Amino acid sequence: MIIMPFYELCPEMKPFIKFYTPINKKTIIPIIGYELYCCDPECDCRLITIMMYNVNTEKCLVTLQYGWDNYDHYIKEKFIESDVDNFINGCLMMLENRNSKTLAILASFQNWLTQDKETKKQLFASRYQECKAAAESKGFTSKQSNDWFLKNIGGMLEHGVFDDLITNKIKFFK
Ligand SMILES: [Zn+2]
Repeated sequence: MIIMPFYELCPEMKPFIKFYTPINKKTIIPIIGYELYCCDPECDCRLITIMMYNVNTEKCLVTLQYGWDNYDHYIKEKFIESDVDNFINGCLMMLENRNSKTLAILASFQNWLTQDKETKKQLFASRYQECKAAAESKGFTSKQSNDWFLKNIGGMLEHGVFDDLITNKIKFFK
């Protein structure tokens, strides 16, 4: 899977993943999820990488992965069964820290997904198509998206790489 900065391709698209994560009795964190879609024209993975931002601090707390489509699609795309089991329910991105906070955010996201699930699935699917279409209209090639991914994967795991770009959007949605 190759993911691309869809905010560059589709600047008019707004984040819509919003929920609260209770950390303990005193602390509840407001979260906005920022989606990164695969824009590789030769790929139909239907997977999203979602960076979960604390609205108050504007910092990314964890990166999750989610696949909205049905199980059979991913098996057909040759994903490993155990991976599919994870990402169709939402899971931590590989190499993410598993701790009480990241797991609490994951649980809140999974809970958010269960509310009006079909509408959300359709929304993810249409945003994915919108990104693919924007990438295509801008003449993105599979190689370009691959190069971008390889250049940024380290930064994505550090959580810092998108902060400047995304912070403005988060401010807008506060
Ligand atoms: Zn893909």
